[in-house]
Amino acid sequence: MISIVIHGGAGTILRSTMTPEKEKAYQEALATALKIGYQILENGGSALDAVEAAICSLENCPLFNAGKGAVFTATGKHELDASIMDGKNLEAGAAAGVNGVKNPVSLARLIMEKSGHVMLAGKGAEDFAKAMNCEFCNEDYFYDEFRFQQWQDLKDTDSFQLDHSKDERKFGTVGAVALDRDGNLAAATSTGGMTNKRFGRVGDSPIIGAGTYADNRYCAVSCTGSGEFFIRSVVAYDVCAQMQYGGNSLDDACKNTIHKRLGEIGGDGGLIAIDNAGNICMEFNTEGMYRACKNSNGLEQISIYES
Ligand code: ASP
Repeated sequence: MISIVIHGGAGTILRSTMTPEKEKAYQEALATALKIGYQILENGGSALDAVEAAICSLENCPLFNAGKGAVFTATGKHELDASIMDGKNLEAGAAAGVNGVKNPVSLARLIMEKSGHVMLAGKGAEDFAKAMNCEFCNEDYFYDEFRFQQWQDLKDTDSFQLDHSKDERKFGTVGAVALDRDGNLAAATSTGGMTNKRFGRVGDSPIIGAGTYADNRYCAVSCTGSGEFFIRSVVAYDVCAQMQYGGNSLDDACKNTIHKRLGEIGGDGGLIAIDNAGNICMEFNTEGMYRACKNSNGLEQISIYES
């Protein structure tokens, strides 16, 4: 059994505020990333390679709040967060608050494999990226007019917002989880965080256990939502812990975490998860979540709204 699930963020995603053109563009971007990841698995590649490649594709697409098209910080910059975890050996890598790195998820993987550390932040992460010959892009590459306008609405105020517009409040973070032919699980997440976020603010996405987690014995999880609440609920690991210590199914664990643990403290968002038998779950407490999945049993689905 091989399987991959991806997300492009959750939030107030309503049919009434979506144009057919926009909907098509999102579906195509999700389909492209899904295909890239699935092909790797089909060719015998690892879950780790599949999630990294799927995320790179989403990072390169300006529709999502990760890599190109990331939201603006309070100082008018982009501070990118990403993480990756290998369920085979519980190795993990994360980059927080990096500027200019084209594909932060690949930097996270290099941190996992080559730095001897789990997480590098800010200039230290950028210096490491340079030493590893990661591709850097200038501000123009990351610029997106829509994100810039979102920032203009909040600039010089104390508020910070999820990737939102007047009618929509959404989280454009991207994530992927996969199961490969050898039974290995992997998870990865990448984001620009929140519009007008403070210099140095780090959300859940690069935090192992909060935004991302993978353990071959149980499951792989990637999250999107109000990061501060996801950190406090240790969402990704909570799903895994429920399976490990409570014997819960993947489905029950995801529902408990999103609707009880996270919901009860006021957090909103969602997650994608896969267990070692290939069961998948795409759970959220918002109106919608950009999501897609494909497995070797013939399942293939791309969805945006709740139903
Ligand atoms: N979780 C991300 C953060 O708080 C935001 C998102 O999911 O879009 O940085």
